[in-house]
Amino acid sequence: MEELQNVVRDGGLAVSNLPEKGRCLLTTKNFNPGEVILRQEPYVCVPNNSSTVSRCDGCFASESLKKCSACQVVWYCGSTCQKSEWKLHRLECNALSRLEKEKRKAVTPSIRLMVRLYLRRKLQNEMFIPTTVTDSYNFVEALVSHLKDLDEKQLVLYAQMANLVHFILQWPEINLKEIAENFSKLACNAHTICDCELRPLGTGLYPVVSIINHSCMPNAVLTFEGKSSVVRAVEHIPEGAEVSIAYIDTAGSTMTRQKALKEQYFFTCTCPRCIKVYDDIQESAILEGYRCKDDRCNGFLLRDSEDKGFICQTCGLRRSKEEVKRIVCEITAISDKKLKSTSPGNHEEVISLYKMIEKLQMELCHPFSISLMRTQEELLKILMELGDWREALAYCRLTITGYQRVYPEPHPLLGLQYYTCGKIEWLLGYTEDAIKSLTRAVDILRITHGTNSPFMKELMMKLDEAHAEASYNLSSKDE
Ligand SMILES: [Zn+2]
Ligand SMILES: [Zn+2]
Ligand SMILES: [Zn+2]
Ligand SMILES: [Zn+2]
Repeated sequence: MEELQNVVRDGGLAVSNLPEKGRCLLTTKNFNPGEVILRQEPYVCVPNNSSTVSRCDGCFASESLKKCSACQVVWYCGSTCQKSEWKLHRLECNALSRLEKEKRKAVTPSIRLMVRLYLRRKLQNEMFIPTTVTDSYNFVEALVSHLKDLDEKQLVLYAQMANLVHFILQWPEINLKEIAENFSKLACNAHTICDCELRPLGTGLYPVVSIINHSCMPNAVLTFEGKSSVVRAVEHIPEGAEVSIAYIDTAGSTMTRQKALKEQYFFTCTCPRCIKVYDDIQESAILEGYRCKDDRCNGFLLRDSEDKGFICQTCGLRRSKEEVKRIVCEITAISDKKLKSTSPGNHEEVISLYKMIEKLQMELCHPFSISLMRTQEELLKILMELGDWREALAYCRLTITGYQRVYPEPHPLLGLQYYTCGKIEWLLGYTEDAIKSLTRAVDILRITHGTNSPFMKELMMKLDEAHAEASYNLSSKDE
């Protein structure tokens, strides 16, 4: 602990142990919005490869990959990445190569992550890889496992996974219970590695980052540059404050967020947003409840005392339980059809089903409903794939209105949505609008992502181009 304090102290941080929270990360200096609080390489990580997606083990790139010829499990983009990963993969490759072909298919990313965790510990114990305070298996030992909170089914699953890890490693002295416990630790403490646009690429364990606690109103954000994790302040953080990030999507009502946190992380959040009980009744009725029968009314609905339906809190109109139920059933039926009967690539059919769902949700849900917003996000995605820019723009603008409500600034998702909007406006030749959207994107993303990544450089270049075009248009008008 003392050695760790010495390491983080130079970065203006301190590790503390609070009785109600366990370990947490505190600041010992002020941090400004956008300032990097912490950067860390993973202790171990793996790409989320599957039968359909492959990424390089070294850099997570997905293009021009070659399989490791020996084990046929791991992919590399070239010899540089293969060499940089070789120390650890040499042992892993031997172990994987011993498996029958069928068994190799069972080696999922989570199994590989655990195998690599043990191999890294071995290499550090045998001094083939140096150990430092922040780069050591001791960190894994200090993590809380929540094994006691797991249900029978989960315990059985972890036991089976531990058996497979044992089978792969073939170490006679290995402790199966410890492996199962480590699976439970990784489930609460490993982080999903995302690209700049927050699309998941893999999973990694970042020991110091895992000390940071959750808040539904976090003062910091975790992003990744390749495999390195970067934690940045999203607001002014004064000296002596606790650093917090969001473990879950913070868009939901308090009940929804609490449920997600309890199920995956086994704690009850007591952040400022979670303890405001009064506001939440209204907020959850807006985000997850129904709309008023009167189209022109924006009131939110609460269940009536006789449990016959839902009453608008603005105009007093009632919606019956039966009516609500009927629309919910219709939506479920269409969603099922969408899952079952649409063939991949049949965009037209998928769009028409999503539009039917959207129409029903507009009839059923409050205009600021999260489920409606999710449907519109899906429509935006497909319309962009189809290159239907005009309609995509309409949906992108709709989602931004929703995001502004559920992702308070400077939230990376809001910034990314402005970026998408700006790109579509630019494609359609709406230069002035594109400048506005791209400027909003830069304002937010420079805080959450910094300004040095290729991703941000590209965004700023697009904004420059848009400015140049606007002034060209202006000057040609003058002539
Ligand atoms: Zn690579
Ligand atoms: Zn290999
Ligand atoms: Zn909370
Ligand atoms: Zn009303």
